[in-house]
Amino acid sequence: MTRPAASADCIFCKIVRGEIPAKTLHQDGDVLAFHDIRPVAPVHFLIIPTAHIASLYECEPGDAAMLGKMLALAPRLAREQGATDGFRIIVNTGRVGRQEVYHLHIHVIGGPAVLGPMIVRG
Ligand code: AMP
Ligand code: ZN
Repeated sequence: MTRPAASADCIFCKIVRGEIPAKTLHQDGDVLAFHDIRPVAPVHFLIIPTAHIASLYECEPGDAAMLGKMLALAPRLAREQGATDGFRIIVNTGRVGRQEVYHLHIHVIGGPAVLGPMIVRG
């Protein structure tokens, strides 16, 4: 599958390019991790692919290695940030998933306090 490597207007692509600042936790050729600017818990960081992929909807089996790398990075970074007793991963996707930034990202959210319920039952 061919995709543009970057999107000029995308805020997370701008972070990848160093055009806007972020508190970076990890960067390599494939993925970037940085603190969320509006944390919802003491530990809250994002892991993104360095290439522009709008959302999980755009992913296919060929993206498995990149997706696995994003996920596999989470536990080490979470521990390093102090989430030593658990954390939660969220991937908001599309309108119904309330995705706000259309560059694929996983939220890694942790305590130390136990998090609220995953979703409030109506
Ligand atoms: P989502 O609703 O899953 O698309 O979440 C987007 C997340 O990106 C939100 O939690 C924002 O606080 C976060 N965010 C937006 N702009 C920035 C930024 N410049 N640096 C770090 N995090 C950001
Ligand atoms: Zn982007």
